Amino acid sequence: MTKNPSGWRPDLGAADSEGARTGTFTGNRALMLEEPLIFEMEEGGGTGVDFAEVPGVESRLAGLERNRPIGIPGLSEPQTVRHYTRLSRQNYAIDLGLFPLGSCTMKHNPRLNEKVARMPGFADIHPLQPADTVQGALALIEMLGGWLVTLTGMHSVAMSPKAGAHGELCGLLAMRAALEARGDAREVILVPESAHGTNPATAAFAGYRVESIPANERGRVDLDALTARLGPDVAGVMITNPNTCGLFEPDMLAISEAVHAAGGLVYCDGANFNAIVGRVRPGDLGIDAMHINLHKTFSTPHGGGGPGSGPVVFSEALTPFAPLPFVERLGNHFALVEEEHVVGRAPRGPAVSGGHGDPMLAGQHHGSSFGRMTAFHGQMGMFTRAMAYILSHGADGLRQVSGDAVLNANYILRQLEDVLDAPFAASGPCMHEALFSDKGFQGGLTTLDLAKGLIDEGYHPMTMYFPLVVHGSMLVEPTETESKAALDQFIGALRSVAERAKAGDQSLKAAPVHAPRRRLDETLAARKPVLVYREPEQAQAAE
Ligand SMILES: *Cc1c(COP(=O)(O)O)cnc(C)c1O
Repeated sequence: MTKNPSGWRPDLGAADSEGARTGTFTGNRALMLEEPLIFEMEEGGGTGVDFAEVPGVESRLAGLERNRPIGIPGLSEPQTVRHYTRLSRQNYAIDLGLFPLGSCTMKHNPRLNEKVARMPGFADIHPLQPADTVQGALALIEMLGGWLVTLTGMHSVAMSPKAGAHGELCGLLAMRAALEARGDAREVILVPESAHGTNPATAAFAGYRVESIPANERGRVDLDALTARLGPDVAGVMITNPNTCGLFEPDMLAISEAVHAAGGLVYCDGANFNAIVGRVRPGDLGIDAMHINLHKTFSTPHGGGGPGSGPVVFSEALTPFAPLPFVERLGNHFALVEEEHVVGRAPRGPAVSGGHGDPMLAGQHHGSSFGRMTAFHGQMGMFTRAMAYILSHGADGLRQVSGDAVLNANYILRQLEDVLDAPFAASGPCMHEALFSDKGFQGGLTTLDLAKGLIDEGYHPMTMYFPLVVHGSMLVEPTETESKAALDQFIGALRSVAERAKAGDQSLKAAPVHAPRRRLDETLAARKPVLVYREPEQAQAAE
């Protein structure tokens, strides 16, 4: 490759402190290869396809050839494969190492899930196939829904939402439909200041005014402030439990009772269900709607590895307002219900064999559905993976999942609290994630510098500057799938970087030095993202 407009220049002259040459002709560093954009790789109108000459025919496409380039690079198959493989090597993934991104639950994705998801009866079907030809897939959706209803102690489930945030919207639309049905349109949703950014965004998107509820000094929702704000204009609350400080909200039941007494409804952000699955049933805490991230708690790949899936479980009161479509069991047959039900059907028997209770899917008392979240039933590929995960663990295994997730997070918290400030550690153990602050960093060093230093140690950084209630916060979620040896190595790396930050070691300002790229201009990237490739001449003209 000779053409190289992507910015790197061979740096043959540079030398390190010991006089060794550090620059290379290619710009590569050992097996870390520099990579231009795919558009920059093409040399003079190449093509990956060759059409054979046809004797006697002058024009290969009988005069139908394009006379202008179509603007996509013409590369051969090996060039293309190598380009994407090189890019993938510049990335970090759960399959490479511990991924401590707090709130994201980056746990190992078991390969058994992948095997099940690739079975042709699940993988090669189409949502418009007649229901008779996809009975197994519909049965799986119903069975998974049954498990989610049982594990959460709720009344029904909507499987179609395609991510956590999409589930939040589904829950709020059902809440709004329920309030409107009783002629009581309300305007305000209360959201704690520690909430995930999707919560206020969802409430605003659903047409509500968002008001913030402060946290108390123990990192929990301030119950007095919340109850003081309740009134006839409050449609409901959105509470994350366990919350984004990695702490359980012990007042959840009192919150639900107060909100219900004031005529409002309770949405729970269940993205952190991983910490309590098999131990706490949100249905026992007075919750009306809650999304579950299959891509967090139930191990389906995410973060570039696959799409999300955010089923929503509902209380009995909200069930009639749940979205369409839903799967319904009629004897031994499974139907996909696409239209509003007549209310008052006879209840049906248990849908899941094996004694998992009577998981009533969202169809049971339909009649006032708010509509649809998606065209079809949801993320089939994620349903199969989550079902494989649940069945391979069983109820006892899932209980151990949450226990081990909490144990691992507390191990990190206690191993590092002497070197990193842990704001809520004095009030007891954390749940599935450990929260630290930048208190005590010297020499102008920040959480960002520490995170960049962690990249040089070979780790993806933890979640930073979130939650907002802690200065320079660092949220570490190891998950249950890390061994003690893996945790110890990560703790060693984080301790080493934290000690440098506390000593004011200015070399941290230059980190990362070993990554494919050094410090990027994150503000520019967020404010002026360049999402479309233009030839350099066009780009100049556009400026
Ligand atoms: C991940 C997460 C969400 C959003 O889920 P997505 O699937 O990314 O839309 C919402 N709330 C919390 C607390 C989360 O951790």
